[in-house]
Amino acid sequence: MRGDNIIDKHIYWRGEVSAAHHLNLNYESKCSKTHGHNYLVEVWIYGELNENGMIMDFSDIKDVVYRYDHKDLNNLLENPTAENIAIDILEGLRSPNLWRLRVRVWEDRDSYAEAEWMP
Ligand SMILES: [Zn+2]
Repeated sequence: MRGDNIIDKHIYWRGEVSAAHHLNLNYESKCSKTHGHNYLVEVWIYGELNENGMIMDFSDIKDVVYRYDHKDLNNLLENPTAENIAIDILEGLRSPNLWRLRVRVWEDRDSYAEAEWMP
């Protein structure tokens, strides 16, 4: 079959999400007060091409990621740390034709959390 000997097929997407959150922590932190971030979300998706010749339609990725845009993340997640946001995006992107999925959520230009799924 065409493409059988290709071992790495993947797509990459990134986009920015502006959102508010506060964290539920068992210690004193300024992060417990409601504040905002301009998150940069990066996505790497490895998998087989579907019948449309795509690993995933970029607009499907946007649908998953942009549902956080201009939202209070505490209405969507119990404790919206960067780690939990990355895991939630990862869950939303899972699909049977994929064999590796990586989501990186930058909270600011120096800090990110990453979640990876390999079925
Ligand atoms: Zn924060």
